Amino acid sequence: MTADDPTGWIRSEIRSSTAYPVESVPEGTLRLDAMESPFDLPADFHRRLGEEMAGIPLNRYPDGSASELKELLGKTLFGLSPDHLFLGNGSDEILQNLFLATPGPILLSEPTFSMYRIIARIAGRPVATVTQSSDLILDTRELLEAVREHRPSLVVLSSPNNPTGREVSEETVDRLCGEFPGAVLVDEAYFPFSGRTVLSLRKSHSRLMVLRTLSKMGLAALRLGILAADPRIVAELDKVRLPYNMNLLTQRAATLVCREFLPVLEDQVRSIVDLREDLRRSLSCIPGVEPLPSSANFLLIRIGGKDPAEVARALAERGILVRDVSRLHPLLAGCLRVTIGTAPENGRFTAALAHILKGTP
Ligand code: PMP
Repeated sequence: MTADDPTGWIRSEIRSSTAYPVESVPEGTLRLDAMESPFDLPADFHRRLGEEMAGIPLNRYPDGSASELKELLGKTLFGLSPDHLFLGNGSDEILQNLFLATPGPILLSEPTFSMYRIIARIAGRPVATVTQSSDLILDTRELLEAVREHRPSLVVLSSPNNPTGREVSEETVDRLCGEFPGAVLVDEAYFPFSGRTVLSLRKSHSRLMVLRTLSKMGLAALRLGILAADPRIVAELDKVRLPYNMNLLTQRAATLVCREFLPVLEDQVRSIVDLREDLRRSLSCIPGVEPLPSSANFLLIRIGGKDPAEVARALAERGILVRDVSRLHPLLAGCLRVTIGTAPENGRFTAALAHILKGTP
């Protein structure tokens, strides 16, 4: 540590890492890079939200256990009592609490959501990995071998997986939980679009946890993540989280959504699934473009003959942001990830991509 370096006191693994890229973008940019919903909620919701916010006692701390919201989420989204739920300021915060709580190693199936590694690093937890097959499927035998070899305290599986869009089968999770003595987290951030969950396996496996978020179904700004887990796990995690992590504005807004607006969100999710399949069909008509099957609100697309970084740059010049994932993992070489937009947005993206790949300005 030198006297003139004001950051010398910060852990070296933090100083040598880079922050998760969250760019501010010019107004009017078409953001197809962050898996947000392209649809806002109806004006009626915004009016009701305004009324709700006007009555909030801002001078008081919020209910630290968010009991009303947990009760409602338990009933409407999980069929579970509130003691099974742990809430976070986005599911990212829940991941952070889980990683802080466990000694590690944390086993990841790669390629996967890059925040897992970032959070593990900041929490000081070692990471072990199992690599998916060349068609981006997690092989059960390889997974079981990896847990025997690395003896992780926690296995994290994203299903549908970001950025591949592929699911982990229920049989795989069932076998893992049966044969592995540690904890298993299935991150179902994209569950609304796949409709498949491993939640029912919790009845026979008390160390299985399921992570969800409201972010992908149209409420990214609320920052609400939900973990469904055995009440004994929830009680331990309650010792890790900060006392008032769920602010009252989010609690009230999410309560309003669960009481009155879930059908609107579900309709929007159905539209996004239809739009995804339309986009996949249109993209597969572009020579050199291979959109992979996806159960989420994004597509992973393989591009032949052109550097995806260059294609992403050319799209950005036309005001369209997608995520270049080609350098995140060797299995993602040649790949871009694109979030599903509205029909006109998807049309604009498809036309721009076709243009760029043809080499026409
Ligand atoms: N898990 C996965 C797999 C994700 O892709 C994301 C967001 N990109 C998150 C969790 C975090 O979501 P949030 O913090 O908005 O709930």
